[in-house]
Amino acid sequence: MRKAVTIIGLGPMGQAMAATYLDRGYQVTVWNRTTSKADALVAKGAHRAETVAEALGAGGPIILSLTDVEIMYKILEPAVGALPGRTLVNLSSDTPSRSRAAAEWAIGHGADYLSGGVQVPPTMIGSPESGTYYSGPLAVFEQHRETLEVITSADHRGEDQGLAALYYQLGMTIFWTNNLAYLQALAMAEANGISAAEFLPYAQRSVAIATMFMPETAVEVDTSTYPGELANMLMNSASTDHVLHTAAESGVDTTLPAAVADVFRRTVEAGHGKVGFASTFEVLRKQDA
Ligand code: NDP
Repeated sequence: MRKAVTIIGLGPMGQAMAATYLDRGYQVTVWNRTTSKADALVAKGAHRAETVAEALGAGGPIILSLTDVEIMYKILEPAVGALPGRTLVNLSSDTPSRSRAAAEWAIGHGADYLSGGVQVPPTMIGSPESGTYYSGPLAVFEQHRETLEVITSADHRGEDQGLAALYYQLGMTIFWTNNLAYLQALAMAEANGISAAEFLPYAQRSVAIATMFMPETAVEVDTSTYPGELANMLMNSASTDHVLHTAAESGVDTTLPAAVADVFRRTVEAGHGKVGFASTFEVLRKQDA
């Protein structure tokens, strides 16, 4: 018998997931608020559920791929009677606390529930290098692992329903800030007559060097030791001031370099002038009351 899966939410991500399941021979049921987004999938063999209750009853796990976790309430509330005995896998991004509340709500209505955070863009759905964080009951995860691994590799982070969202948001913290830093540099480059294409190999080298430092930063943070023989915070703070002034002289937005310079300055003021970069962690970390 063909394995079944239901996808609720057909943005770029839900569409890529549904298409991948169809390619892998699954019986795919889809539901989306804007019904026309299912047309191409239906043409490829998906079943369009006319109602949410029908989608919930189609068999197999129900994957939710929505702009945020809380949209689930709006969509499922009219059909809560169909939830007992179903398994919901919410792959919509949101905060850990909203993910925990959503799990509690669904489980309270008799469903099994897994939270998830997809780490790759829609173009990488179905590829072996892709990955998704999951959290929630391990037994539920194991029961559906094979189906979940059709879309990406599956990494169960723990039973706390908030963990998938937490890992996801940690990743997005790096992703967005790193990408914004790249665009900041491109704005400064453009203001000085350098194209993005010209600067690309140099940008990639900067990111590679930053990546190279990550393992030793992890050790320094975990041991609260910040050697500064080769580069201390007095020098680093002067450097971030130079970046800020170069941005200002270039006439581009200075919000990001000003924020970086501010953190570095406060690290020096906190007494870390003679130790290394990772000491900025002491300013960033949660402060004891
Ligand atoms: P979109 O925001 O484009 O679409 C998500 C879906 O949410 C659509 O089906 C949309 O329905 C539905 N939706 C939004 N608001 C409502 C509402 N009020 N009522 C009913 N349905 C609603 O998201 P993506 O497909 O791009 O992504 C899905 C999830 O995956 C998001 O949480 C995103 O953060 C995450 N993600 C996305 C990545 C990406 O590159 N796209 C990468 C990694 C994770 P409708 O079509 O009717 O508007």
